[in-house]
Amino acid sequence: MGILLNLLGAPPDGGGNMTSGGTESILLAVKTYRDQAHARNPELALPQLVAPESAHPAFFKAAHYFGLEAVSVPVDSGFRADPRVMARAMTKRTILLAASAPSFPQGVLDPIPRLGALALERGVGLHVDACLGGLSLPFLPDPGRKLTPWDFLVPGVSSISADLHKYGYAAMGASALLFR
Ligand SMILES: *Cc1c(COP(=O)(O)O)cnc(C)c1O
Repeated sequence: MGILLNLLGAPPDGGGNMTSGGTESILLAVKTYRDQAHARNPELALPQLVAPESAHPAFFKAAHYFGLEAVSVPVDSGFRADPRVMARAMTKRTILLAASAPSFPQGVLDPIPRLGALALERGVGLHVDACLGGLSLPFLPDPGRKLTPWDFLVPGVSSISADLHKYGYAAMGASALLFR
């Protein structure tokens, strides 16, 4: 876990755990934000998750299982999450924003720095689903530094899922869920 936390720029007190796959990592992330929201505000009846429509179905499955309302919002013309559209969809009940690095359907990086700023401004979590990118993007040659920053070095990124059974080349049934 230390190797992964280091690789993805987590601060020294970051933490994480193994899960059985990307879906479970996302399920547990959403459950964690829900439990934290309930601990902070027991009155909050229906916490809300705002996700671009490119987000992995596991976010919507998690919302269904754990009693959140999932709000799915349109992506921009480049299939990226649109921070302005996501900001408009947020309410007082919003506890979490979802983003992908990269998304499974189109393989594009969402604008994580702008989403991180939005999450900090509104005091909500930002889960970056790097199930696909967590163990591939850090090793991608990027001499011009053109890649959108997406890991814990971006302020406001509060958790990341990274699959070991994809580009970590582990056997099926291995993913990691990391928290800042
Ligand atoms: C694979 C993947 C998931 C889900 O992972 P499973 O390991 O199939 O449960 C979630 N998000 C993205 C972007 C993925 O590529």
